[in-house]
Amino acid sequence: MRLPKSQSIWKTAAISGNKYLPNRMSSDFVDLHCHSTASDGTLSPTAVVRLAMERNLSALALTDHDTIAGVAEAAAEAGRVGIDFVPGIEISAEYPHPGTMHLLGYGVDPQNPTLASLTDKLLAGRDDRNPRIIAKLQALNISITMPEVEAEAGGKVIGRPHIAAILVRKGYVTSIKHAFDKYLAPGGLAYYDKERLSPKKAIGMILECGGLPVLAHPVQLRYQNDGELERVVKDLLDMGLAGIEVIHSDHNAHLVEQYVALAERFGLIKTGGSDFHGANKQIDLGNAAGRRIPRKFFDDLMTALRSRKSASPMTNNQ
Ligand code: AMP
Ligand code: MN
Ligand code: MN
Ligand code: MN
Repeated sequence: MRLPKSQSIWKTAAISGNKYLPNRMSSDFVDLHCHSTASDGTLSPTAVVRLAMERNLSALALTDHDTIAGVAEAAAEAGRVGIDFVPGIEISAEYPHPGTMHLLGYGVDPQNPTLASLTDKLLAGRDDRNPRIIAKLQALNISITMPEVEAEAGGKVIGRPHIAAILVRKGYVTSIKHAFDKYLAPGGLAYYDKERLSPKKAIGMILECGGLPVLAHPVQLRYQNDGELERVVKDLLDMGLAGIEVIHSDHNAHLVEQYVALAERFGLIKTGGSDFHGANKQIDLGNAAGRRIPRKFFDDLMTALRSRKSASPMTNNQ
């Protein structure tokens, strides 16, 4: 089946007509949450895909923060090595401290103009914040400059892990975690918050870009009790949430079980990923705190995306 041009980047690697192209790999495991050098990971998109091969994964989603700049390269490499691929993006939404709300957008259409305006807006928020963090660090007599941070990031998306890496290298702190605890996390000496989208806007934008919005690592919401978590998920559901990330490196067995039950109760799809960042975090690709991510999560995600896309006038008209 000839695919619409706008979908070819990822669908060539993933779908042929109504069924998946045969995989060279036969693994039952996938990873649907990871970062490359396009945001705050340390491996290039190509290297992440090659590592997925080495880890015997049969499918991968690249979910860089605030950008899809790595998606085309990853999709091309996935096509070469025979791994299924779906593009993703991870964006932060407004949420009261000390919690953080991250939303994953799966299957966003790289050619959707709304996506470009979304990522531009998110990057502008970073461009506003990063120099303020650097100014705070300089006021603490730390030798660090924006050009150094830009060089460390090597791309458009500059994140706190890049700043943290410089602080480690220069000996101000002993680890990335130490950099966050002392300087970069909320309450840290050089913390400065960036402007975020409301959850409603973030979900709306992901949907508008042809993607499926999924609540990332719910544990990071730092809800007080299960009732609060349920209320948040219900509210997000009303806004168009499609899924919950049930498996993640921050989720223990009890949490995975709880999030699976929640997803099933609300009819949400289940996703999972390691949140691999290369050397910036001690997490291996395809391994979420000792748990692997079943292939079924990817298949169900693709099924949900296909039914959404076929119902969407945006992609049908192209
Ligand atoms: P930013 O996107 O620039 O706001 O930075 C947030 C990123 O920093 C997250 O996506 C994580 O990769 C990383 N991060 C956040 N908190 C910590 C922490 N306590 N230790 C290590 N990395 C962290
Ligand atoms: Mn990150
Ligand atoms: Mn996150
Ligand atoms: Mn992430």
